[in-house]
Amino acid sequence: MEFETIIGLEVHAQMLTNTKIFCNCSTKFGGAPNSHTCPVCLGMPGVLPVLNKKVVEYAMMMALATNCTINPSNSFARKNYFYPDLPKGYQISQYAYPLAEHGYVWVETAGNQKKIGITRIHMEEDAGKLIHDENNPSSYVDLNRTGVPLIEIVGEPDIRSPEEAAEYLKRLHEILVYLEICDGNMEEGSFRCDANVSIRPVGQKEYGTRTELKNMNSFRNVQRALEYEVKRQQYLVENGQPIIQETRLWDDAQGATNSMRSKEEAHDYRYFPDPDLVKVIVDDEWIARIRESLPELPTAKRERFIKEYQIPAYDAGVLTADKALALYYEDVVRLCGKPKQASNWVMGDVLRFLNEEKRDIRRCPITAKSLADMINLIEEGTISGKMAKDIIGDMYQTGRPPQDIIREKGLVQITDEGELTKTIAAIIDANPGQLADYRSGKEKLFGFFVGQVMKATQGKANPQLVNSLLKKMLAP
Ligand code: ADP
Ligand code: MG
Ligand code: ZN
Repeated sequence: MEFETIIGLEVHAQMLTNTKIFCNCSTKFGGAPNSHTCPVCLGMPGVLPVLNKKVVEYAMMMALATNCTINPSNSFARKNYFYPDLPKGYQISQYAYPLAEHGYVWVETAGNQKKIGITRIHMEEDAGKLIHDENNPSSYVDLNRTGVPLIEIVGEPDIRSPEEAAEYLKRLHEILVYLEICDGNMEEGSFRCDANVSIRPVGQKEYGTRTELKNMNSFRNVQRALEYEVKRQQYLVENGQPIIQETRLWDDAQGATNSMRSKEEAHDYRYFPDPDLVKVIVDDEWIARIRESLPELPTAKRERFIKEYQIPAYDAGVLTADKALALYYEDVVRLCGKPKQASNWVMGDVLRFLNEEKRDIRRCPITAKSLADMINLIEEGTISGKMAKDIIGDMYQTGRPPQDIIREKGLVQITDEGELTKTIAAIIDANPGQLADYRSGKEKLFGFFVGQVMKATQGKANPQLVNSLLKKMLAP
């Protein structure tokens, strides 16, 4: 039997505000346990939450960037459940009236563009963290994260493969980071994803029973977990066994998903409007102001790079994957006016150095000015491309401009025709046998003469000039 895979993702993204969503406590990661808490986020009786306006604005930015419609009036609801990391016994979230709905993003796999729908984006508070002690029969509760602002981006079940799921996630992640409203750190949990997956025989209209996967902390693991789960479900169906609607945890070491709990239904949560918070009224003027403030988004930047700089789509993709890298590249181009050369050096050596050290482009020791100078020095013929390959390593290690390194190492390229002519003449004189062989048709010997010139000049001779002079002087 042939199956079709159906995937829908729920993404939680932590908003980069300084303070929590309903109180003034810090949102900083870490800190002594329970040091970032107050009566409001500890859920003491009688306290009142006050909505952080910045959270609404950040959520609106994401909503507009993903083509959602913002609801002019939206409101908060209580999602009731018991867990020791949730002191109030309910999570403040949005339910019947979310901030935004009906959006989409474009996703590309194997050269095909596809629209993936976004059902809704809503605001909510995060829960705390439980820490289990392996040596003691005890667990600890840290409520620093309680009340940290999140948005949840609920996706339509439009995704048809684990690979497409990973691409969709990368697009959402990229947009959030570009907007500077989320740090995107998957390991610290600032960007996390629950993946819902089901299969159905090709041609069947109804969806199959789905499972929900959690605990994947990288794009790669989301894809792996989904691949595993699709196989597991196929095996069950092919063997006449039922698929149980449940939440399953990804185990990285095992490379498998394991059942965690049966899935709650929405009615289990007894959602009801939170009486402590007023409606959020969003007028057109506010939306226009937020729209106005949006930076250029990744897709638009990618297209502009291809058009404006005439670089391949591949280059544009790499260079715009990180907003700071795109900025760096544009600085280099502005200073040297050579977009393709700039792209080659940035994507090649610069990124390789940075990746080797896992260093951020914002802390790159080679400034955009230095790299542009180096490219200009090659263009002017002061140094050869080969010399630049050595110099750039030094530039990265020491942070010095290329001119200093060239001066210190005496690396200036020999472009003086008179000087090179003399060197070549001496070499020809010293090798009469090779000269005769070359002239009688052994053209391979041309390389021998190039090698001799480079040896005599310690690699500093301009290769183009050496070539043209040798052609002239070796000719019979
Ligand atoms: P809940 O809130 O209980 O998790 P939702 O109806 O809000 O359930 O759906 C959550 C996610 O599950 C959505 O992203 C949606 O696209 C996805 N989803 C719904 N039905 C299916 C299905 N049959 N197969 C795969 N994904 C699904
Ligand atoms: Mg859900
Ligand atoms: Zn607080």
